[in-house]
Amino acid sequence: MNAPLEQLAALRKSSRPGDEAKPVGDASNTGESKDRQETPDLAETAEAGETSETGKVLDAEVPAEQLLESLQQELNRIQRSMRLTLQAKLQGLVGRSLGSLEHNRALAAAIQTMLDQHGFRLRCQQCGHAAILRVSPRKGIPSGAFVLDHTIDGKRTFHGGGAIVPPIHLLAKPQRKPRGG
Ligand SMILES: [Zn+2]
Repeated sequence: MNAPLEQLAALRKSSRPGDEAKPVGDASNTGESKDRQETPDLAETAEAGETSETGKVLDAEVPAEQLLESLQQELNRIQRSMRLTLQAKLQGLVGRSLGSLEHNRALAAAIQTMLDQHGFRLRCQQCGHAAILRVSPRKGIPSGAFVLDHTIDGKRTFHGGGAIVPPIHLLAKPQRKPRGG
């Protein structure tokens, strides 16, 4: 799932062997308090106010990979909420046609642009693959056919082909496979 994060964690572990290579995920053995040094300046200025605690903020440095991981989780939540919102709103277009090839093409392009922008695809009702929505000219359908354009087993394939906007179910855009080795 999160290969880059794992790589980062691995790098961190291996880069400075003796320094601070604590095993990630084992948080129970952090007894030392090297970061909690006294700050004389603060103590001096605070003595008039007779404060027992100097109000020092604990300088707990969050490990980079932990920070990124929680950021990733946050983004996943936002992404999910965006997907559900988009999907709900787009239902208003399902079953409709704008009446001409030109208009339907523009409609499909507008939907597709929006999905692309946020990393989504349509799920093909026929085969379940992630697909792109297009409108192509077709005999017998003057206003064009709504097709789902996807690559299956390396072959570009079109499914659907009705005169109206097909059912819309959104998927996260599949990760691009790394090229070469
Ligand atoms: Zn399909």
